[in-house]
Amino acid sequence: KSFEDCGFSSALMNAIAKHGYEKPTAIQCQALPIVLSGRDIIGIAKTGSGKTAAFVLPMIVHIMDQPELAKEEGPIGVICAPTRELAQQIYTEAKKFAKCHGIRVSGVYGGMSKLEQFKELKAGCEIVVATPGRLIDMLKMKALTMLRATYLVLDEADRMFDLGFEPQIRSIVGQIRPERLTLLFSATMPRKVERLAREILTDPVRVTV
Ligand code: AMP
Repeated sequence: KSFEDCGFSSALMNAIAKHGYEKPTAIQCQALPIVLSGRDIIGIAKTGSGKTAAFVLPMIVHIMDQPELAKEEGPIGVICAPTRELAQQIYTEAKKFAKCHGIRVSGVYGGMSKLEQFKELKAGCEIVVATPGRLIDMLKMKALTMLRATYLVLDEADRMFDLGFEPQIRSIVGQIRPERLTLLFSATMPRKVERLAREILTDPVRVTV
């Protein structure tokens, strides 16, 4: 398996090479074809497996495929992660690959003042990387809407549940149209996460690394 098999644009292939990714990791080999074909996925994988690129690269392709991008507002891709540290790592990884296509990424987590974050979101973006609590705050403040969102990633779902974010996750998912792509990554699949997956994913493919 290689990145050449994925049908990525030459700009994206250059970005992948520039960041020193020569060959896809195991989770990338399994997940990329599934997600690029438009299927929902449950990925049982840990940090360090390369799962971030497995959901970010198809997200870039998905955004480039959207016709009439400007018609609606708000992010097209929404990524939720349990902690500010993880969200920040994902943000950095997403930025690397989004830049080559002029796709804007906003980080929605603690660190920046709510007012600064509000202003940044109002300026517009195609990808949001968020912790659930802060994203809910921004939605309540109407800093963004989910009208345009069609690609949702829940990363480290088990940790988000451990931290008590289940209500926030359910609220966020409820604001995104049901005919979306949904990707759920988790290191473990406790019953509560399994139940959420059954409720919010459509005929998902399950991959384990
Ligand atoms: P992640 O599990 O997504 O946090 O990725 C762990 C680390 O592996 C990060 O530093 C990535 O930049 C790096 N990485 C991801 N995919 C690849 C790849 N195909 N080749 C080399 N490094 C990679």
